[in-house]
Amino acid sequence: MGESDFLDKLSSGDLIFGRGVNLEIVDIKVKPLNLKLKSPFITAAGPLNEVKNVYVEVHTNSSLIGIGEAAFEPRVTGETQESIISVINEYIKPAILGEDPRDIEKVEEKISKAIHGNESAKAGVDIALFDILGKCYNVPLYKLLGGYKNSLETDFTISLDEPEKMAYDAKEAVKEGFKILKIKVGVDSTKDYQRVKMIRENVGDDIKIRLDANQGWYVKEAVFLMKMLEEYNIELLEQPVKSWDIEGLEYLKNVLLLPVVADESVFTVYDALNIIKLNAADMINIKLMKCGGIYNAIIINKIAEVAGIECMIGCMIESKISITAAAHFAAAFKNVTKADLDSPLFFESDPVADGITYDSGKVILPNSLGLGISKRIL
Ligand SMILES: [Mg+2]
Repeated sequence: MGESDFLDKLSSGDLIFGRGVNLEIVDIKVKPLNLKLKSPFITAAGPLNEVKNVYVEVHTNSSLIGIGEAAFEPRVTGETQESIISVINEYIKPAILGEDPRDIEKVEEKISKAIHGNESAKAGVDIALFDILGKCYNVPLYKLLGGYKNSLETDFTISLDEPEKMAYDAKEAVKEGFKILKIKVGVDSTKDYQRVKMIRENVGDDIKIRLDANQGWYVKEAVFLMKMLEEYNIELLEQPVKSWDIEGLEYLKNVLLLPVVADESVFTVYDALNIIKLNAADMINIKLMKCGGIYNAIIINKIAEVAGIECMIGCMIESKISITAAAHFAAAFKNVTKADLDSPLFFESDPVADGITYDSGKVILPNSLGLGISKRIL
């Protein structure tokens, strides 16, 4: 189908309802997406000096092209830029060529069966497929998925550093309008205490403070520190202990007064189900790059919702392409109540101009079709 045929069908409404349109995936293109950070991003896992993500395009036999991005943290996801490119080219692409992206259940099954793990590579393709669905059905993606709201309040992450530097960074973020700060801790308990104390003293009582230890504490250390930090009014604590220490997480969930959030402990839908069955966390931090994309994020959110567990949407160090996808997912569902979608703000420049916009701590969804990112960078 040529572009003019496509536009005729679009204006006649045929495309919207899929009448008479044979839509199939004909190619997947990938390209390294190397991005410069304004300054190194440091967590308890270590410093990150450069970001080497992957840009993804899913092409169809029509003019519809879906755009996606795969991002990774080698110490967390076990993937690399090279592995993502090779997994998409050698395993995912051959598995879904010729399929109709509207048969999303079938296409996702094929992606899932093509290779074990490699969730970021899968997410890059999944995002592009959902971009196609939004464009195909003529709606912004968040409306296709559920349309619960059209903006989110994101926190701003304060990278791990000396307490004085973190307090300075926190103050600057508050000046820029952020009302929620996510403080990275998990290295050196004495300093962790000082980090939180100094930040609270510098930003005042009206700012919400979340802590993320990125697996850096022992169970007893977490109990002791949270007791010491009680007076600083912490909103929640993310991933205090090692990803595999589900018993430790469960213990902390039961003894600490504040909500304990599972992040690195939950990658797949099965990890989420396990945490829910064991009642081991108060909340789950969903990241598209951990679970293989929007399709699985929806499943995790829904099983969590039924179990009475709220979800947060988080991110790796991703550009506005996949962060826009994460924002569409989060905006669509009422059970996704918290957002940590600040990573595009860490780059010197963004690869795309459109997509979500930031207004201080507010993330505003675009109203154009699909993801709402028009510029291609291939
Ligand atoms: Mg985290």
